[in-house]
Amino acid sequence: MDIHFYGATREVTGSCYLLRVGEHHILVDCGLIQGNPQHEEHNRDPFPFEPSEIDAVVLTHAHLDHSGRLPLLVKQGFKGPIHTHRATADLCRIMLEDAGYLNEKDAAWDNRKRERQGKEPVSPLYTQEEARLAHTQFRALEYGKTKKIVPGIKLTLLDAGHILGSAIVKLELKDGNQRRVVVLSGDLGHSGAPILRDPEPVRQADLVVMESTYGNRQHRPWDATWQEMGEILSRARADKGNVLIPAFAVGRTQELLYVFKQHYQEWGLDDWQIFLDSPMAIKATRVYQRHGTVYDARARQILEKVGDPFAMPNLTMSRHSTQSMAINKMDSGAIIIAGSGMCTGGRITHHLKHNAWRKHAHILIVGFQAAGTRGRALVDGADEIHLWGEPVKVKAQVHTIGGLSAHADQKGLMDWYGRFDGRPRVALVHGEPESMQTLASRLHNELQAEVMQPEFGARIDLTRL
Ligand SMILES: [Zn+2]
Repeated sequence: MDIHFYGATREVTGSCYLLRVGEHHILVDCGLIQGNPQHEEHNRDPFPFEPSEIDAVVLTHAHLDHSGRLPLLVKQGFKGPIHTHRATADLCRIMLEDAGYLNEKDAAWDNRKRERQGKEPVSPLYTQEEARLAHTQFRALEYGKTKKIVPGIKLTLLDAGHILGSAIVKLELKDGNQRRVVVLSGDLGHSGAPILRDPEPVRQADLVVMESTYGNRQHRPWDATWQEMGEILSRARADKGNVLIPAFAVGRTQELLYVFKQHYQEWGLDDWQIFLDSPMAIKATRVYQRHGTVYDARARQILEKVGDPFAMPNLTMSRHSTQSMAINKMDSGAIIIAGSGMCTGGRITHHLKHNAWRKHAHILIVGFQAAGTRGRALVDGADEIHLWGEPVKVKAQVHTIGGLSAHADQKGLMDWYGRFDGRPRVALVHGEPESMQTLASRLHNELQAEVMQPEFGARIDLTRL
């Protein structure tokens, strides 16, 4: 009875854990490795286990750094079920197909270049069709219902409050007379976030595998964040320019729409035309609309009393590129929410071309911007960005709104662990080394936890805990 750490060890992407109980092998998450191109090449490394020998997969949530190698696992021989929350199954249908589509597009682009250089073509990591095929192996579950997934392993999903359908995974293991409980946090949500419930506390475990993304950081209070957003929108209204909001299609976009609806009168949003200009975000919003039963109390109340918590009379969902291009004719009065979230591609780049040089325009940064991206350049105050090889002056006012995070901060992580009985051992994952070390020290010093920081390939013998 053991667990092997095959991803998100001392880094934040590529989550993948193998558990072996007797003859049975299960995997928790099979995520994409993300970062710079050299790092992403590791997605093509052979799995450190035989995919056909895995009996079942448990998926914590739909983000690609947790789900994005599942089609590859299936392509390489995994035939078992993929157990996950039903909202995650719905989100994965659109996200994995989109990933497959982008893989094909990227490979085609690379191959044109490789052909000119006389090199052999590369094949996509997996195709859209392969993603579709992998999705047929998904099995939808509810929170709080225990299911025996293979002999000797019982699974319960608990709400992690990170994105729609996100789950904490509780595994009850039995091999002969040996019994152990392993709890994997998945990505834990940020308490008080809109729409979703706070991460559910768990009491019993022999081992806790816990994320540590913001193990060294505190988020600021939500009220301060909403106040700042309201003030910026009032200023933008006085300036009579457009407002551009680069946003991730799943999670952040729905939070924005929900918060806009909540503050509709207060922020004078009836004076604007609001565009959700992202086919992917539109599809993700439809999934959020279908899963009202997992909303927090406030969002459920809105759903019951007012109806759709994302609908506004002046909100246009622009699916087609012709609709998107029409927005470019507007030089004032438009709030445009579009992807990609870090301005590396997608429709937001067209809107930047048409607005970044206007001094009355405002750009709201509402999500994490990785180093080297156009979004980060905007945050860092670049006075020029390059779009399709052409320089574009940045005269628009750029605002970085703090406090918007889908991850628990240090206090959130400490509080969640603090609810376990008897201080079970902790294995920290999904964090950069500094963040992990800071959290490890606090868990040890203040809560007397025995903390491990496994390296890639590390194994913990669960019978020895
Ligand atoms: Zn996540």
